[in-house]
Amino acid sequence: MNIITRFAPSPTGYLHIGGLRTALYNYLFTKSNKGKFILRIEDTDRTRYVKDADKQLVNTIKAFGLNFDEGPIYQSQRLKIYQKYAKQLIKEKKAYYCFCTKERLDNLRKNQEKNKQVPKYDRHCLSLTDSEIQKKLKNKEPYVIRMKLPDNEIINFNDLVYGEVKINTNDLDDQVLIKSDSFPTYHLAVVVDDHEMNITHIIRGEEWLPSTPKHIILYKMFNWEIPNFAHLPLLLNPDRSKLSKRQGDVSAEDFIKKGYLPQALINYVAFLGWNPKTEKEIYSIQELINDFAIEKVNKAGAVFDINKLNWINATYIRNIVENKTKLEKDYKYILNFIKNILPNTNRAEDILKVFSPRLNNIQEIKELSSFIFELPNYDKNLLIFKKSNKDLTLKGLEVGLQILSSVEESRWDQENLNNVLNNALKPSNLAPGDLFWPIRTALSGLDKSPSPAEILWVLGKTESLNRIKIAIEKLNT
Ligand code: GLU
Repeated sequence: MNIITRFAPSPTGYLHIGGLRTALYNYLFTKSNKGKFILRIEDTDRTRYVKDADKQLVNTIKAFGLNFDEGPIYQSQRLKIYQKYAKQLIKEKKAYYCFCTKERLDNLRKNQEKNKQVPKYDRHCLSLTDSEIQKKLKNKEPYVIRMKLPDNEIINFNDLVYGEVKINTNDLDDQVLIKSDSFPTYHLAVVVDDHEMNITHIIRGEEWLPSTPKHIILYKMFNWEIPNFAHLPLLLNPDRSKLSKRQGDVSAEDFIKKGYLPQALINYVAFLGWNPKTEKEIYSIQELINDFAIEKVNKAGAVFDINKLNWINATYIRNIVENKTKLEKDYKYILNFIKNILPNTNRAEDILKVFSPRLNNIQEIKELSSFIFELPNYDKNLLIFKKSNKDLTLKGLEVGLQILSSVEESRWDQENLNNVLNNALKPSNLAPGDLFWPIRTALSGLDKSPSPAEILWVLGKTESLNRIKIAIEKLNT
């Protein structure tokens, strides 16, 4: 079989992290089967329309490297096709016009709720005669088209993730297929398109599982071959509630803006519901393609764990900086990112070198390195190491100032600076805490920061000596 899949987002503003996972699983499944991957923009819900959201979606999907073989195809450009199929169902008495007003439907629902019945359309308009219908159509009365579900029929299908799903049509509603604005509902459009585009495997979020029986009924009504379905488990917050904006970021674009690398996000998201059952945690996209198997997708909800994502992203950043020649393109991406958030420095590359081992995401470098640009106003007691005292600290700062003053600019590199400081300990009879600690805090104004040699190197000689002098003055007053 020639595998054809699709990712079918609605352009509602951003790509949800769950949407990214759906796109990724479709992509991995397709590529591992040498199939075709289609991008379809499901933009028939005009109430949720957000201008240009489709373009952003396409860009985001491409930024993640999930290249599609066909598309984007827009449903809004296919309206006539859905109309044609809806009319066909009407003709075959598998669908019917419904002229019920909103008030009537609201009342119906309220009564049903009051009587503890499942809210469901009561087929009021199914009893209209042909001439009544024609008259109403002629009078331009607003209408929708509803599918006429078969009575008391068991619909079952085998979901590739959830296994057998069974439902009685009596528990379903006569779904609207064409809305009063003459746009199709998702349910009609999705079935028509998946059929016309020869989709063999529909891989989508679990929230669509309850709609699938209705879709299957439509396939049967049209006499179309039913594709395979795989519904992906819900994404959960750590408290096991549904992953939502309220508890943190859910938009893939926001993660990118914060400096999560696309490949690290892909790596992380791949594991939200799937597991290759090995110890290996860092996977390139090609390795994911090689190992991915839809049957191994779990149906239990997957918890979105930001700590795990941070760990994966940190691992990628470190690896790229350590192998910058080999991974030049990725390195440049990180460097450009940093140049954008630290526009007033020509030391972006050096700052990256010093801070890269400490980054969960690239954006963090801004705050971590802020002391480089402006010395924080710190308390002078911070200069004194817990096992030291004021006098020894002053001595450490003065020794430091003196030996560092004599280091030539051309030898102002991390290795030499480290040696110079180490070599000063013995002759001056100072413990490391009397020298390294006060120098480091004098340079950073912080109780935690990179090592003295690293900061000296990034700050440069003049600024470093200045900061040590400030510290001596502080202690002396
Ligand atoms: N347009 C739907 C969504 O945005 C797609 C559902 C499907 O893949 O069938 O979730």
